[in-house]
Amino acid sequence: MKIFAANFKMNKGQKETAEYLADFNPKCNDARVMVAVPFTSLSATKNAKKQVEIGAQNVHFAPSGAYTGEISAEMLVEAGATFCIVAHSERRKYFGETDETAAKRAKAAIDAGLDVIFCIGEDLAVREKGTFKRKLTTQLKNGLKPIDDSTHLIVAYEPVWAIGTGKVADVDTIAETHAHIRKFLNKKYNKFVPILYGGSVSEKNVAGICATKNVDGVLVGGASLDSARMKELILNGNK
Ligand code: PEP
Repeated sequence: MKIFAANFKMNKGQKETAEYLADFNPKCNDARVMVAVPFTSLSATKNAKKQVEIGAQNVHFAPSGAYTGEISAEMLVEAGATFCIVAHSERRKYFGETDETAAKRAKAAIDAGLDVIFCIGEDLAVREKGTFKRKLTTQLKNGLKPIDDSTHLIVAYEPVWAIGTGKVADVDTIAETHAHIRKFLNKKYNKFVPILYGGSVSEKNVAGICATKNVDGVLVGGASLDSARMKELILNGNK
């Protein structure tokens, strides 16, 4: 079963989220569809179709306390989220996310009952230097350190140089990288862990990406913002 996850980033307030979800009825009996909305839009997702999972884009690791501006996993569950993105590259780049803080977030989210889409990815300099496998292994090793049971874990490989740039990784690059990630996950866990690709996925390139070995779905930013495009993307990727 393929996974199609939308990341709205800081787009779509309550009105737009409600409008999007009212119109979002993807034909996907055999696919998993997930939509990560801004925190404040969680309350506008009540009318989402049953098959659409609603989630958040970040979570704090403490259950409560003096963490001004943060949201706990328990608060997300109460607000209706069933999953959460952790360690997105924009969190790493703009908000000081490290593998260590990401590990704490992932653990807190899973302990509270959320599924976690845990993001990893190398930047362009690392890709060009050829040390991407080492970088990804470090992110996986440290980021997933406290996660012993992978039941609620999804990993997203998102090369930083492909996010929001229109520069999608070619299928050979994706295949080689996902094989490396699969090897790590198989060694650490005794359960299958889905691996998503993310980075300028669109309705046009999704079929080739989803047909690539070890690609279990996609995490989509820009192209997910239009519900018609996202529906087409799911149809094309799920063939
Ligand atoms: C993302 O936000 O995770 C992402 C992959 O963005 P985009 O599809 O716009 O590259």
